Amino acid sequence: MAQEALMEKIVSLCKRRGFIYPGSEIYGGLAGTYDYGPLGVALKNNIKNLWWKMFVTDREDMFGIDAAILMNPKAWEASGHVAGFSDPLVECSNCKNRFRADHLEDPDVCPSCGKKGSLGEARQFNMMFATKVGALDDASATIYLRPETAGGMFVNFKNIVDSFHPKLPFGLGQIGKAFRNEIAPRDFIFRLRELEAMEVEYFIKPEDWERAFEEWQEIMHAYADELGLPKESIHELEVADGDRAHYSKRTVDFEFDYPFGRKELWGLAYRTDFDLLAHENSSKVTLKYLDEETGEKITPHVIEPALGVDRTILAVLLSAYREDDLGGETRTYLKLPAMLAPYQAAIFPLLKNKPELVVRAREVFMTLKKAGVAVIFDDNGNIGKRYRRQDEIGTPWCVTVDFDTLGEKPELKDTVTVRDRDTGEQKRIGIAELPKMMKI
Ligand SMILES: [Zn+2]
Repeated sequence: MAQEALMEKIVSLCKRRGFIYPGSEIYGGLAGTYDYGPLGVALKNNIKNLWWKMFVTDREDMFGIDAAILMNPKAWEASGHVAGFSDPLVECSNCKNRFRADHLEDPDVCPSCGKKGSLGEARQFNMMFATKVGALDDASATIYLRPETAGGMFVNFKNIVDSFHPKLPFGLGQIGKAFRNEIAPRDFIFRLRELEAMEVEYFIKPEDWERAFEEWQEIMHAYADELGLPKESIHELEVADGDRAHYSKRTVDFEFDYPFGRKELWGLAYRTDFDLLAHENSSKVTLKYLDEETGEKITPHVIEPALGVDRTILAVLLSAYREDDLGGETRTYLKLPAMLAPYQAAIFPLLKNKPELVVRAREVFMTLKKAGVAVIFDDNGNIGKRYRRQDEIGTPWCVTVDFDTLGEKPELKDTVTVRDRDTGEQKRIGIAELPKMMKI
């Protein structure tokens, strides 16, 4: 499939079926924002829950945190964001459009109006959204929407040490919104102005950095596997000396083959002691760690796996999208891992005008719902149409209640047909066995 066509199909499916809508659409939209619809929220939550499980709760050395989006602006001065969180911006003197200088194909030609030599000098444009706190309208009231979630974890380092006395290594994990005033938001949910991040700050003794770095590298690959991202679509890019943030001793970008090119999906960085030292110097609060074995006070170093939720969702959808021929008909389906699908199962009565079938199908639906399976009830149209609708949103199993379920053939009483999304094959299964089969 042509890569551009694939992207168009994903965007269209997302809107049509209620995964992702353009933000503020009835007002003509707002660039760089998207709204997640009911199926998008379900998919997003499943992706975040899996991350939280693998990166936080499955481990004994991790603590969850949910810090405020608004922070004291001194935190962003200390971290270097006020001075340096910027992109090079050029403006066309002819059409007044603005572009990222490092994204231009030809620095002499305006990509919008095509005029030569109209772009002028690049200047640094800070990507933090500034706003005002309280009723004052002077410079002292300026605060920022956080451009990354890491800051909220560093400023809580001391709180966690004081409350929990963890031994090194230990880490904080957080999922939350971040905001970047991108000059040119684009590529659907890839480059957004409002985004969500899943990040870990993992505190270590300096001499342990290589081992910890490799451990998180492996966990990130394991997470990619669980998400169904093909190994051949993920590429590790060792970020070269000159391209890394100045404080980082090693950074690996996890790149994904998007239809618009090979682009950064996630990042893994060794941030040394840069952040804790910067916040200590700026706040005048000591952020040292007392090693009880040696009696030494040290500033822990940090390994940071940073993952964007929205970019991950796009990679998952692109990896799952399939078109095939089933029973002589072309169909579209999402081959999502069962634990990520918005619904694990759809429950149908064979015929909607037979009350006894509908009543029994509703009972099966409620049984599964109470068992914690994400289910949907559908009695619209014929069975074939219902299958297509579920295939398109990635529902792994379709369950049909028919006359045999009711005991027309006594030996089949209380069984249903379960149809597999990927193969289209059907088998008969006892209703009592369904929750076990579908609980992931
Ligand atoms: Zn122009």
